[in-house]
Amino acid sequence: MLFDVILPLAIEGVFTYNIPDVVEPKSLIGMRVLVPLGAHKQFAGIVWRRHTDALPEGITVKDSICMLDERPVVTQVQFSLWEWVASYYMCTLGEVMKAALPAPLKLESETHVRLNEEFVADKPLSDTAQKILELLLDRKERTIDEIGKKAGLRSILPTLRRLQESGAVLLGEQTEDRYRAKTEKWVRLSDGYRDNEGALQLILNALQRAQRQHELLVSFLHYTEDTGAIRREELLSLTSSNAATLKSLTDKGILTIEDREVDRLYRAVATQEKKELNIYQREAFNEIKKQFADKDTVLLHGVTGSGKTEIYIHLIEEVIAAGKQVLYLVPEIALTTQLTERLQSVFGERLGVYHSRFSDAERMETYRNLAETDKYSVVLGVRSSLFLPFKNLGMVIVDEEQDDSYKQQDPAPRYHARNGAIVLAHLFGAKTLLGTATPAVESYYNAQTGRYGLVKLEHRHADLQMPHIRIIDTKLQYHRKQMQGHFADEVIDRITNEIGKNKQVIVFQNRRGYAPWLECKQCAWVPKCANCDVSLTLHRRQGTLVCHYCGYTIPIPSVCPVCKQPSLKDIGLGTEKVEDELQQLFPTARVSRMDQDTTRSKNAYQRLINDFASHKTDILVGTQMVSKGLHFDEVSTVAVLNADTVLNQPDYRSAENAYQMLEQVSGRAGRKGQQGEVLIQTSNPANEVLKQVASHDYEALYNEQISEREAFKYPPFTRLLVVTIRHRDIQKADSVAALLQSQLQEVFGRRCSRVTMPLVSRVQNQHIRQILLKIGVREPWQAAKDMLAEQIRRVKKSADGKSATIYTDVDPI
Ligand code: ADP
Ligand code: ZN
Ligand code: ZN
Repeated sequence: MLFDVILPLAIEGVFTYNIPDVVEPKSLIGMRVLVPLGAHKQFAGIVWRRHTDALPEGITVKDSICMLDERPVVTQVQFSLWEWVASYYMCTLGEVMKAALPAPLKLESETHVRLNEEFVADKPLSDTAQKILELLLDRKERTIDEIGKKAGLRSILPTLRRLQESGAVLLGEQTEDRYRAKTEKWVRLSDGYRDNEGALQLILNALQRAQRQHELLVSFLHYTEDTGAIRREELLSLTSSNAATLKSLTDKGILTIEDREVDRLYRAVATQEKKELNIYQREAFNEIKKQFADKDTVLLHGVTGSGKTEIYIHLIEEVIAAGKQVLYLVPEIALTTQLTERLQSVFGERLGVYHSRFSDAERMETYRNLAETDKYSVVLGVRSSLFLPFKNLGMVIVDEEQDDSYKQQDPAPRYHARNGAIVLAHLFGAKTLLGTATPAVESYYNAQTGRYGLVKLEHRHADLQMPHIRIIDTKLQYHRKQMQGHFADEVIDRITNEIGKNKQVIVFQNRRGYAPWLECKQCAWVPKCANCDVSLTLHRRQGTLVCHYCGYTIPIPSVCPVCKQPSLKDIGLGTEKVEDELQQLFPTARVSRMDQDTTRSKNAYQRLINDFASHKTDILVGTQMVSKGLHFDEVSTVAVLNADTVLNQPDYRSAENAYQMLEQVSGRAGRKGQQGEVLIQTSNPANEVLKQVASHDYEALYNEQISEREAFKYPPFTRLLVVTIRHRDIQKADSVAALLQSQLQEVFGRRCSRVTMPLVSRVQNQHIRQILLKIGVREPWQAAKDMLAEQIRRVKKSADGKSATIYTDVDPI
């Protein structure tokens, strides 16, 4: 019987296979099937639909090799979402599949395989399985393809899948040592001390002289107040203690370590009730429900610190009570850390969490739990959690809806999760709640024009005032010699004062690394990336110069390679340098840094955030990561060291983005009973956006932006399509772009721009050219995309076009 199968590939078109011996065709839909492609390759594809049309003349259909699942792994609604993403964002279903499924579901010939050395077989293995394991005995990784060839076997995927399931081999990203044991070490009080306050007090006194052990024991008691025990790893990371200190406590018989079975996913207990809503929250909560009666999407515009999260929690409870599920989207992993705790305390084990810092095994478990059980009522996750197998979604929450991280830039699908969320909700007949203190101009426009409902929340919780904003003119300060390093004296005074009063400070600088580049003072040489047209960023901690576009890395040279002088000087300001300057200015303060470089591991976020929240650090330096949604009660002050880099982006969304970023980071300031203060350093204090931020006047920002966009024909009055052409050969990049532009010009006329070069016009040795199309909102949108696709197809057939990469970004940001 013929079926169309989705393969994880960027190739256009439909892949049809014959699946032999089918009894119940419907039951196969959504299962994985192993199929051959070309002469040598095999893929695990997803059975998408029956192929009912007659086949074109002369086409022969290959047989599938075997089915890989007993149950569907993709639901009908998931397919509908995939189809929408592929069609709206102009990519293939295979590309959507790649983004949508956790790695273990995506076996292909290139997948890596490694032996799991801890595996012991409990039943005899088939010959094929034996052969495969023998090949892996040398402990090296092999691709599935290599194993097949070496073993002389045609189809090894079914066997591999069984071996994987029994734990004998590790596949894909799993091979990067992410295998997790089935038991974990937990720490608890030894029996003699449990429920024996007196004995515990004695031992605490006795430990006064062993300071580290004392500290660790106190922290242990703190963290286990409700639960009685904690994972060993977690305890060590939360307390930054070393294993030796813990061992001393176990040797003394105070603490006991025991092995516990896991459930790979963190076991959570609901410990807290939800909070009582304040009157403004209550009003907003009722208003949201009222508006949901006739709108599918509602925008909750609530100032920073107004307590949107609590409103979400109350709404979630009602949805769950009605027997439905909720998807809670956040733009960044950093936000899941604080929220996981908050949501777990209310929803306990009914909360599932899904993001890329989890191992494949963990992600797979969440996916399976959703597909096969009713365990989760709420899922907290980043944009890719749109693609999870929900069964009966009742509401999607998109928190910080304005955030650009919701848009996937590269690779395809270049989708926007906010829009995806609205479509997903629609597929379930569910509602979407967009929440933010700084709405995207498009979303606010949709609310103004009645497409979305709009609910406002203008009071911070506990009648906290909005932070006071002080704009500091750095030009003037330099002139008056009132700057030390990159800090104005005013800022230094404020920080000194506040940490003197035991308050905390956040310092925001939106560039990671030490300095954006290095320059020779003698001959003006600047180290550039070998693969990209961009200067290398200095990372002093690692002693390297790094390309932020492709990762190219070299050691820091000690002399200029051109003039041989030791005259290299770093230019500009990154978070590492800020950290150094802070440490010099405030030698006794405890400073930590949160940016992409310090948060590579899964627990790093948790540790940085916990340390700051529990006041183990005084000053937190960071990039936009620190600006979003995090809440710390003791932060009285936020300093923005250089607003100019945020204000001066060459983009129609520059003012909007700057407002959002500055307003968001300002929102981190303010604590109970005291107005927070935000100090913004800039060389352009007259900038309109800064004034709007200073008065927290979103309406002013919006009104100005919306009239500019109308005048210059930008979204929401037009829709944008950016076509990108990439080629290794600069001449070919130019000629293909010119050819495509002339054809598009014919079809689209003045809606089509000239060929432009992006700011960084060569990345990874690919020369980049772009063409922008502006389609009016009343013009036929699908037809425009079809015509564009047609022209791209034609150009791809031309001599130079064949070797070029051409793709379209729909609604680019
Ligand atoms: P935002 O609107 O910026 O997302 P949050 O939801 O994070 O604000 O709330 C800000 C702070 O106020 C948090 O520390 C939260 O715990 C507290 N808060 C908000 N609402 C309540 C409430 N009803 N009762 C007690 N605390 C609340
Ligand atoms: Zn030089
Ligand atoms: Zn590079």
